[in-house]
Amino acid sequence: MSMLKGSCLCGAVTFEVTGSFSPVEVCHCVQCRKWTGHFFANIEVPRDGLVLRGEERITWHHSSAKVRRGFCATCGSSLFFDPIDRNKHQWVGIAMGALDSSTGKKIAVNIYTAEKGDYYDIPDGVTRTLDHVDFAVRDLARSRTFYASALAPLGIRPVVETGREDGRQGTGFGPGEPAQFYIGGGPPVAGRLHLAFAAQTRAAVDAFHRAALGAGGQDHGKPGLRTHYDEDYYAAYVTDPDGHVVEAVCRQPE
Ligand SMILES: [Zn+2]
Ligand SMILES: [Zn+2]
Repeated sequence: MSMLKGSCLCGAVTFEVTGSFSPVEVCHCVQCRKWTGHFFANIEVPRDGLVLRGEERITWHHSSAKVRRGFCATCGSSLFFDPIDRNKHQWVGIAMGALDSSTGKKIAVNIYTAEKGDYYDIPDGVTRTLDHVDFAVRDLARSRTFYASALAPLGIRPVVETGREDGRQGTGFGPGEPAQFYIGGGPPVAGRLHLAFAAQTRAAVDAFHRAALGAGGQDHGKPGLRTHYDEDYYAAYVTDPDGHVVEAVCRQPE
């Protein structure tokens, strides 16, 4: 559990938030750029962990049918990115610039980079090549529980429940939205499937392995260096409830 405090420029709106937070995501879409005057860096926080003061001073702009953006009506500070469908999205995005506390967070994801302004480069060079993966599992509830537990030490969590529109139930996981990894119902995948998730530290790899075994996974390779892949390749392997191999790997030297 972490706690962060923040406020708008004039101080009319202040807030506190507790819970577990996503890494920092930066959106370069045209709407975010116009809203903030640059790009929008935010973390997703649990909606029920947010306590607001001065809420009546916030004006909400519905920039699409799916989201409203909250800003201070007095000073204009961009503050909250609030998805409308509260069953699907249990989080609110908070503008990094509104936070008063030091956050201990770094930019992990850049999205809508095709719409970025031509006057800057993506600050940390993080871009996606693979947008997301989606596969079917035998028992969605069982696998959802397994992945939610096993991936938590890596900062990856369920961020969206899908299927209300197309009838196919599923869960999307990621450090935040948009989800990067989905499991869903349907005829389960047969044959070989191997998923490797990125870990920032070796301790996170160890924690992943423990959490996965605690959630019903089977050991498929203890945490340790695999120097035949790379000199700093530190990984652990488990199998998920369907027998698929799931790995966490840290490539940072230590
Ligand atoms: Zn203000
Ligand atoms: Zn955006």
